[in-house]
Amino acid sequence: MKKGELYIISAPSGAGKSSLIHEVLKRSSSSDSSIELSVSATTRLPRPKDIDGQDYFFLTKEKFEELEKKEAFLESANVHGNKYGTLKDYVNSKLEVGINLILDIDVQGFKQIQQKDIPNTSVFIIPPSISELKSRLLKRNADTPEVIEERLKNAIAELGGANNYDHKILNENFDMASDELYNLIMNRGVQNKDAKHISEILEDLLSN
Ligand code: 5GP
Repeated sequence: MKKGELYIISAPSGAGKSSLIHEVLKRSSSSDSSIELSVSATTRLPRPKDIDGQDYFFLTKEKFEELEKKEAFLESANVHGNKYGTLKDYVNSKLEVGINLILDIDVQGFKQIQQKDIPNTSVFIIPPSISELKSRLLKRNADTPEVIEERLKNAIAELGGANNYDHKILNENFDMASDELYNLIMNRGVQNKDAKHISEILEDLLSN
């Protein structure tokens, strides 16, 4: 059986990454290919709609650190004050049975995977502007104003890592961005027609 492949998707929070990933998963469920979103472990407290084992494996700090000591993580990082990590056994069990896995991880986690030479295809989602990013974070209404400010600050730092990814997708128009991500993951190739436009937007975002 052909092993599954890893797709790494990163973006600053508010760039619309989760909605894009869920759209791709919805569309792929009616195709033959098997794609799943990897479930990470985290010390973050569950949000009201979060389901343990489905959205994340919610762990105590102690349990997380115990797993870190045992080198159970493919990568792990501190994101917005909480720990997040991808479990090696979980990923291997999926890839071995031919499931393609999407890892929704931050730029620090991606760096660790690159350093370990683990084969992957990486995608960075670019938001159209900082003001759009802020308004999406506010609309989401999931975080306190302090957390939103922290996430915005981190967003600028994360955008600096965008050029290390194989592909950059601009999420200005949701349908176009989800088509692009879907085609990429379904190995239909990408037309990087937007490269110049994306570089200009990225430069503008980084000058903030
Ligand atoms: P949230 O708390 O909003 O679910 O996720 C916050 C951020 O943590 C997201 O940008 C997401 O990409 C990142 N994240 C989630 N799981 C992992 C993980 O296993 N490893 C790393 N490095 N980042 C993660």
